[in-house]
Amino acid sequence: MINRRLVFAVVLSVLAVFTMVYALLHYGLLHYTEELNVEGFKPVGGGVYCVDLVDRGGRTVGKVYVQLSSQDKVGDRAPLLVSIWCVKDVEVYSLRLILSGQRFPVKAFLEAPAYEVPKYTFRSTEDGLGVILEVEDLNSRGGDTLNFKFLISTTTEEKLKFKLDISLYRLNSFPLRVLKASMDAYLPLQTEARILCPKDGSPYVWTPIGSRSENFNWRCLECGYHWMKTYPEEVYRSWRTAFLDPEFVRDYTILYLREIEKLGLPDPLKLDWTVNRESVPPGKEAYKYLANDLTVKVEYRVGQQGNTVYELEVEDGDDVVWRGKLYQRKFNPAVNNIPSDVLYETYGGLGVFEKGVYIIATESNPIDLLEKSELSWKTLKEYTTLKGSKGDYISIVVSRGEFPTGGYSIKIRSVEKLEGEPTIIYLTVEFTDPGKGVVVTQAFTNPTALISLGNLPEGEYLVEVHVNRFILSYDKEGNPLYTWVGEEVWTRGFQVDP
Ligand SMILES: [Zn+2]
Repeated sequence: MINRRLVFAVVLSVLAVFTMVYALLHYGLLHYTEELNVEGFKPVGGGVYCVDLVDRGGRTVGKVYVQLSSQDKVGDRAPLLVSIWCVKDVEVYSLRLILSGQRFPVKAFLEAPAYEVPKYTFRSTEDGLGVILEVEDLNSRGGDTLNFKFLISTTTEEKLKFKLDISLYRLNSFPLRVLKASMDAYLPLQTEARILCPKDGSPYVWTPIGSRSENFNWRCLECGYHWMKTYPEEVYRSWRTAFLDPEFVRDYTILYLREIEKLGLPDPLKLDWTVNRESVPPGKEAYKYLANDLTVKVEYRVGQQGNTVYELEVEDGDDVVWRGKLYQRKFNPAVNNIPSDVLYETYGGLGVFEKGVYIIATESNPIDLLEKSELSWKTLKEYTTLKGSKGDYISIVVSRGEFPTGGYSIKIRSVEKLEGEPTIIYLTVEFTDPGKGVVVTQAFTNPTALISLGNLPEGEYLVEVHVNRFILSYDKEGNPLYTWVGEEVWTRGFQVDP
């Protein structure tokens, strides 16, 4: 009797335990987790990298493909495609993906997924060097391929850190089986070859552009190492025209001023920088970096591809220690003198020069001829061209166009030649308009400036006219007040043939 009772109790207990375990497993409260075997990413051609996800039994249950198409750039952004494929009896349910740089920030943009992703977050990483995409429930089915499209801004950074953690379910398994896979890779960001210091791999390298030692004598601005090498033309060209991050420009400038200009500045790579984004007109980016007593301002126009001009100002305490422009890796100190070879005209351009920039190719300096009345503005217009030759005397006309009254003026503040491909003729110009109540002459005017440049070496040129517009008014005491209205840029390309 006792035995039968005991057997009954044991059977009941076993049944109860079994039911509980079954319930726990069935409702996912207790499950079995398996770490998948993930080997390194292998290139499979066409810029595609692939990794297999292999289970304990040696079966491939999924694949991850990553494709960075540097050739299909949209502006400075290259598309990055991440695809996750699984076998029929396995589905992905969550993922966490980090895309980031190591030394410099990598900007990434996510294209909204093509199918329903119920909940995802996309944000910057804590160190600010990249982004994180997290999806809680992917809503995928076994056999599906999940695609995530990103746009990656090409930067100074050499390699993209790619870190992906995914969780998958094995369907129809008992107990419920969760598969986990983690992968890490550094994918090359730029297909272009780079020029780095042979001693420490530093990207802060410099060559005296415009001298006989250009692309031959090299200096590492970080460690001071000197080497001699002529890099292939396309490698050298891509080094000169690469877009540089503003933080890179900041450090590159300070290192250049320390190593080449011998200014007593601290090592920028050891400073703790803070940044302020300055408010600027649309189409421009401006940053003000601060560390200790140093201030570095970096300003540039966006979307300029290979011909970005970085306007720079370095202050140490209250002193401006350097001001200038970085263009295609050449540091050009600012020109402070107001050029004298400019002729201003108020009426001569009427009915001749409409608002805009004109390139003039003549035999000799047109300013002399106009001053001696041996040439008229109307005749000058006939020498307008987009193609000159080395023997031509090249000039630029900037015309504000026609106004019904006087009071509209034009003033050329500086003319700078920034050598490169193209060489940029960088003009800083001020336009002033009469404000309300300002007395003006009642006659049609056409404020025009003629800037003579002279003979130019053969090559491609781009005239950039940076216009700052002001409105003139007077205060109660009769003092002039100039109100800044905005900045705009007028451009005109031309060519000088042999
Ligand atoms: Zn070095």
